[in-house]
Amino acid sequence: MQNAKSADAAVIEMSKVSTRFGDHVVHSDIDLEVRRAEIFALIGGSGSGKSTLLREMILLHRPNSGTIRVLGVDLQKLGDDEADSESLALRQRWGVMFQHGGLFGSLTVKENVGLPLREHTALDDVLIDEIAAWKLSMTGLKPEVGAQYPSELSGGMMKRASLARAMALDPELLFLDEPTAGLDPESAGEVDQLVLKLRDLFGLTIVMITHDLDLLWQVADRVAVLADGRMQGTGSMRELSKMDNPAIRKFFDGPRGRAAQEQEQEQEQKQEKPQGKVQTSHEIGRPSSKPK
Ligand code: ADP
Ligand code: MG
Repeated sequence: MQNAKSADAAVIEMSKVSTRFGDHVVHSDIDLEVRRAEIFALIGGSGSGKSTLLREMILLHRPNSGTIRVLGVDLQKLGDDEADSESLALRQRWGVMFQHGGLFGSLTVKENVGLPLREHTALDDVLIDEIAAWKLSMTGLKPEVGAQYPSELSGGMMKRASLARAMALDPELLFLDEPTAGLDPESAGEVDQLVLKLRDLFGLTIVMITHDLDLLWQVADRVAVLADGRMQGTGSMRELSKMDNPAIRKFFDGPRGRAAQEQEQEQEQKQEKPQGKVQTSHEIGRPSSKPK
């Protein structure tokens, strides 16, 4: 019974997933579980296979062996054809924000956000525009941004617009590839807050690839470390920071890793003595369910 319950809580389950390109082994026996409504981050060096793993979760690549279940569906059992009705139904339950945004330059922001609705629903144009406008406001963009073209947007606005598009079909599951890459610290911090807000408002499950230490320490509930083709460890950043595995230590021992850890410790000390101090919205916004 307990097992049935925990299986129910898993939104993504990977079991013994192995992937190679020719002779090059990218993943060996990867096991991974993403739980409902958590913010799950995937980290690892360049070329460690993060993007490939993400592509396998969203039906863009098939592993050589192993099983992947997403939202209760065994991906292996789905047909190869993109138009296969079961795959199509599943794809509509998740949203993806690709690293470079993936917005179409020839469409306005509003048209970009409305695109999934035009493709997958029979809603009329007026309604699609209204939904697109609401999705844009949800990500903090002003209504007039809808009429602009992607090339007119700042990096932060582009990320918000891509997020709005990923949210177009009210997904249960959101995939984000490097959501803060290339942003200045202030815009990156705003995206951090937006990711938290989307999870808290809609109970979304979020899987992201990131190198951003602020995002990892302050937003991710659990983090999985990929190196040498294997899953080296999974846990909260604090749990990972106590592990001895050299492939994991790498993320904590450099100067940037140490600075992020110190910042986290400082914040924690502040939170431990709240008397006479008003909590900032940022502290309130942090998930209380964060595993310690
Ligand atoms: P990461 O996202 O962690 O940087 P990737 O998943 O993009 O890593 O790639 C992992 C490894 O697989 C790399 O060595 C890359 O060159 C290789 N690879 C990825 N996609 C392909 C492909 N379509 N054909 C051949 N090799 C690939
Ligand atoms: Mg990648």
